[in-house]
Amino acid sequence: MQTLRLSAAIPSDLDRAAALLRAGELAALPTETVYGLAANALDGDAVAKIFTAKGRPQDNPLIVHVPGAADAAALAADFPPEAQRLADVFWPGPLTIILPSSGMVAPAVSAGLPTVALRVPAHPAALALLQAAGIPLAAPSANRSGSPSPTAAAHVLADLDGRIATVLDGGPCGIGVESTVVSLAGESPCLLRPGGVTLAQLRDVLGDVTVSPSVTAPLENGETAASPGMKYRHYAPEASLTLVRGSAAAFAAYAVSCAAGWDGLLCFDEDLFCLRALLPKRSVLLTYGSETDPAAQARLLFARLREMDALGLRRALVHCPSADGAGLAVYNRLLRAASFRVVEATSCFPVSRFP
Ligand code: AMP
Ligand code: MG
Repeated sequence: MQTLRLSAAIPSDLDRAAALLRAGELAALPTETVYGLAANALDGDAVAKIFTAKGRPQDNPLIVHVPGAADAAALAADFPPEAQRLADVFWPGPLTIILPSSGMVAPAVSAGLPTVALRVPAHPAALALLQAAGIPLAAPSANRSGSPSPTAAAHVLADLDGRIATVLDGGPCGIGVESTVVSLAGESPCLLRPGGVTLAQLRDVLGDVTVSPSVTAPLENGETAASPGMKYRHYAPEASLTLVRGSAAAFAAYAVSCAAGWDGLLCFDEDLFCLRALLPKRSVLLTYGSETDPAAQARLLFARLREMDALGLRRALVHCPSADGAGLAVYNRLLRAASFRVVEATSCFPVSRFP
């Protein structure tokens, strides 16, 4: 079976994708964050196909997408005032809210948890498809499990061609990293995954919001993940990545000092001047936006990680982004892509060790 590529700009294509979803098939759809792989969240057999197509571990629950806050409230056992305030400010948009489940979605969606993850996406094609299908859609990112998330229809096809019925092509995603996930199912609001909505924005609405330790650190042995997805190696290209913290000059000096230890660099636009002066012409230098523009970094990151694979890179250095504000989402994805390997490049002098 070859995957049918449909255009989100053509209304009849949208209807065809909606019909496939209602018939229990899988359809990838554009959202403002990344492409999602959708199935009818009320149909256990359809949901099972998501896990098979992605090779996703059964204990990693799925986000359910709905067209409006009232539809979300129907899937939750309770929709507290905090959820309503978040919905009023951030929906439609890149925010997922975890709440106790009403039990309406297929059990596999929640992977055995008593909670459900809910989002109203902002992409017009995603909203139109939700309206046309008339069912809640469980939709994780439309990549093979573990690989970089897809931010274009071509990325979806590269991973899932032949495994899913269709991909609705809506062009490149505007945000480029997955939604912010906040849990309202515990004692107090807790950020489980940083994304397009920042921690500061959440705190503006909710007051105190704690941050799950898994946002910036690996789980200890035996520790239970608040968000099961955070325990897996994720977003990773074939190349083994090392994040390098430091100024442009320190990054360049580090890269030069261990040039035999890498075959590609992922850096900021500002790094190129120094690097081009110091490195051989044939060096592979990829950039993911400006050091001061986390939105551009987010938009470009996953496409660059996929380019590393296309170039056959085996070991790459990445200039580490700032973890402040909107940068936290980019930093969180890169930490996992690099299996938490981070080095400090503190001076412009050659450093002696490469991990
Ligand atoms: P993805 O859809 O691939 O972006 O992954 C969804 C993320 O949301 C994963 O990190 C899941 O572990 C997390 N998630 C989904 N449902 C729940 C839930 N009920 N409780 C906690 N985390 C969840
Ligand atoms: Mg994913």
